[in-house]
Amino acid sequence: MSALRSLILAAADSPRLQRFVQRYGFRLGAARFVAGESLDAAVPVLRRLNDQGLLTNTTLLGEGVYDEAATREVVAAYREVLDRIRAEGLRTNVALKLTHLGLSIDEELARRNVAGLVEHAAQLSNFVRIDMEESRHVDATLRIYRSLRESGHENVGTVLQSYLFRTEEDLAALLPLAPNLRLVKGAYLEPPEIAYPRKRDVDAAYVRLLEASLGGAGFTAVATHDETLIEHAISFAREQGIPKQRFQFQMLYGVRTRLQLELVRRGFEVLVAAPYGPEWYRYLMRRLAERPANVLFLLRNLVRG
Ligand SMILES: Cc1cc2nc3c(=O)[nH]c(=O)nc-3n(C[C@H](O)[C@H](O)[C@H](O)COP(=O)(O)OP(=O)(O)OC[C@H]3O[C@@H](n4cnc5c(N)ncnc54)[C@H](O)[C@@H]3O)c2cc1C
Repeated sequence: MSALRSLILAAADSPRLQRFVQRYGFRLGAARFVAGESLDAAVPVLRRLNDQGLLTNTTLLGEGVYDEAATREVVAAYREVLDRIRAEGLRTNVALKLTHLGLSIDEELARRNVAGLVEHAAQLSNFVRIDMEESRHVDATLRIYRSLRESGHENVGTVLQSYLFRTEEDLAALLPLAPNLRLVKGAYLEPPEIAYPRKRDVDAAYVRLLEASLGGAGFTAVATHDETLIEHAISFAREQGIPKQRFQFQMLYGVRTRLQLELVRRGFEVLVAAPYGPEWYRYLMRRLAERPANVLFLLRNLVRG
């Protein structure tokens, strides 16, 4: 992992930095990565992406909620998001974080909260993806995903991170479920005892996961902006006769926009993750850590003011 990446992720915990960035950050550049500070602001962005041939998902930004009543508000907000997607006729699904729904308080609370949303989404013919967070949440997240699938919910997926040593085993254990999995490299600060510190090992693990997942019976969301990996997925699928309906590409709103449209033009399904909400600070810091040049982008806007 690059020193700058670790530095940015570690600095993200500083309350002073958070106050500063929250105050000026949206205007200075967070808007590049965040569809809006409210659902009303995000809807036209989602529609514009759909009009360009891109599928979308959205997330009410927030994580690490420690108050049960607050998790009920998050559930209510997501029900509204699902209803609004239906009313607006958007080609948008939902991606959420279990710590936003109470995982740090009680696993059963998070399971109940997400189960209710998956049920509501099913009634609206929609889909819910459970994001993957820090490594301490992986076991519980996978248990909850498995329990939803085993209780008959088909409209739910989760995420696996290639930087964790454990992930190949996790994938092997999930494959019999014909899972809907998003594969990512991983966005958090993890110790070298459990995660590959070097980018080339993370990338190599991604290739192994990609091939194993595409070779299984489920659906694979190839969520990366890495063109080498994207082209590898395309040629692997072609060689193995894997139909285009069994996978899609996913990228983040504001990142590699031209590449997103180019893949659509080549006939592939592309989904853009476009989150919204006032709590965009941690999301923005992860985007800065992935590409420290983004810090310069923010600073340039600050100077231009
Ligand atoms: C749809 C989606 C959902 C995700 N969900 C999760 C999740 O649930 N859990 C999780 O841990 N992580 C998640 N991530 C983040 C992921 O783990 C990586 O941190 C992130 O995608 C950057 O890695 P990369 O695969 O694009 O490859 P990299 O090797 O980091 O980047 C490849 C190229 O993409 C471009 N690029 C990458 N990131 C940025 C950026 N922020 N700004 C500008 N350019 C950039 C650069 O040109 C870079 O050279 C998600 C990513 C996507 C696309």
